[in-house]
Amino acid sequence: MMKNKIKKINLLFYFFIVLIFTFTQFNLTCHAAEQSEPIILGKHYDIFRDPSKKITIEDILSGTYDNSFVASKDNYLSFGHTNDTIWLRLDADEILKDQQESYWIEVTDKLDSIEMFLVKEDGSYSVQKRGISNIDEQKIHFRSNLFEIEDPTVKEIYIKLDGQLPLNTISYLFTTDSFANKIIDYKFLTGIFYGFLTALLIYNLFLFFSLKEKAYFYYVLYMFSFILYQATLNSLDIELVGQLLPKWLFIKSAAISGHILFLFMILFSKEFLELKKYLPRFHKIGNILLGITIFSLITSFIIPDVTVVNNFTSIFAVVVFIFLWLSGVFVWLKGHKMARFYIVGWTVLLGSIIVQAFAFLSIIPFHPIIFEAVPAVGAIVEAIFLSLALGDKINIIKKEYQEMQQLLTETLEHKVKERTQELESAKLDLEKLANTDRLTQIPNRVRLDYVLAEAIEHAQHHDAPFSIILLDIDYFKEVNDEFGHQVGDLVLMNVAEILQNTIRPQDTIGRWGGEEFLVICPQTTLDDAVKLSEKLRQRLENHQFPVVHRKTSSFGVTSYGDGDTLNTLLFRCDKALYQAKEQGRNCVEFLIDDVPVSIK
Ligand code: GH3
Ligand code: MG
Ligand code: MG
Repeated sequence: MMKNKIKKINLLFYFFIVLIFTFTQFNLTCHAAEQSEPIILGKHYDIFRDPSKKITIEDILSGTYDNSFVASKDNYLSFGHTNDTIWLRLDADEILKDQQESYWIEVTDKLDSIEMFLVKEDGSYSVQKRGISNIDEQKIHFRSNLFEIEDPTVKEIYIKLDGQLPLNTISYLFTTDSFANKIIDYKFLTGIFYGFLTALLIYNLFLFFSLKEKAYFYYVLYMFSFILYQATLNSLDIELVGQLLPKWLFIKSAAISGHILFLFMILFSKEFLELKKYLPRFHKIGNILLGITIFSLITSFIIPDVTVVNNFTSIFAVVVFIFLWLSGVFVWLKGHKMARFYIVGWTVLLGSIIVQAFAFLSIIPFHPIIFEAVPAVGAIVEAIFLSLALGDKINIIKKEYQEMQQLLTETLEHKVKERTQELESAKLDLEKLANTDRLTQIPNRVRLDYVLAEAIEHAQHHDAPFSIILLDIDYFKEVNDEFGHQVGDLVLMNVAEILQNTIRPQDTIGRWGGEEFLVICPQTTLDDAVKLSEKLRQRLENHQFPVVHRKTSSFGVTSYGDGDTLNTLLFRCDKALYQAKEQGRNCVEFLIDDVPVSIK
């Protein structure tokens, strides 16, 4: 029952999560009254590359390199992985317009080392060091590098970028007020984003506990690694645990968390799509990719060159995602509906991550949206669709199970019906067998006893006449003696057939034993029974039997009288038959109250 409702609960759940986060954070978005937009610094920079990495601030300030600086054309600077030292120059007069204000410069990227020199008119300068190598220098725990310009009377600002990580600088200039607003916005959006993902994780963890579906477990792990990956990408690791963990970890954290993400993505997809069952080849490729992921994860800890690790991670990401996307498509093409939501989710995520990877490799122009909004939206859409896919899959499985159950019930019912019919017909066969004489195929003594008892019972309660006829083939022993037992059997079969064909529908004829037959005639007076006997006698007398040609029979007839029992009735009939034999055979004798009457 629970599984049935998952989809609906899912949707409701997402709705409420978003609602709750929006409301709880709402008051924070009330900005300070005076709004001033931050300045994107990109185009304000002059850039100078130093491949020797030896030039110092003193060299720069000496004026030797003044003409080597080139004006930037881009809003967002991206130098990618480079071994050069990058120098950036800002003309303070151009940007620090209000001399009463205090300013902030934010550089929003993970960098190994970033130094800012605030140079005054007289040539003196102060330094602020940031970046992973100088984590402890930044007093505000924040995900990006913050520089404070308390005294805006500086003439020039120089920024020196160094390190193994890609040298991208998305940098903004804020007034203190606008910076406070920026932090509020950032906290609000981060709260929604991570809160949503965490809620989704916990929710699916509960689903795993109640449904015991392995796919949910992998989904939870996938969700966890996704949160981890996004956090490292947004430098949240530096903001939250920057002071606690060794510095080299932050340089490699994106690659490491990326690998953990691949690991659980592959595990989840393999389990969810049941690749082992539906696409054994993809299952094998998946295992190989898992192996590469684990190997690459270990090596990324060991290899000192972050450039190699990062580039490999980006390329490998594209391979893994295309593989997982294709797995979904092929499972879907094989007719498994459960892959539909999976494909939608993956298509969105794949698109966003490919864009991100291309930007990372400088194939497409760099823009902060690519590193922030695109993967965030991609992640949320993916997470929602994968969770929906899980619910959808369980619904599909349940439906199939119900259909199977129905089929099983129908088959079972059909089988039971068939069996009952078989049993009933077997029962009838058995009854017939038990009540039929094997040789002549007419009712046997058992059946005759039953019919007779019923007839007597009926006669006792209803004042209706009823008679019986006992007949015995004359000198039958001779047939056996002269022609053999088989001829005797043939005669018995013939006699039975003639009797059967001659009696009326309401009468019962049966073999009483040996060459004796009994006819039970309900609603029949003695007179009519005698007439019937005579008819039977004549038929037999006139019949041309095979081999023996002519065979006669003697008949004893009697009717039910008050006080008669089965025994008295039969006894009297037998006596009449005996008398018929005495009379010379081939005749009919009847007895009423022991008074014998003979007719011929
Ligand atoms: P009667 O006119 O006095 O009745 O003389 P009968 O020879 O018919 O009488 P008896 O009772 O001496 O012989 C009956 C014979 O019927 C004896 C037995 O071998 C034969 N018989 C009984 N049942 C069968 C049977 O199923 N098949 C064959 N072939 N003979 C049978
Ligand atoms: Mg006999
Ligand atoms: Mg006989």
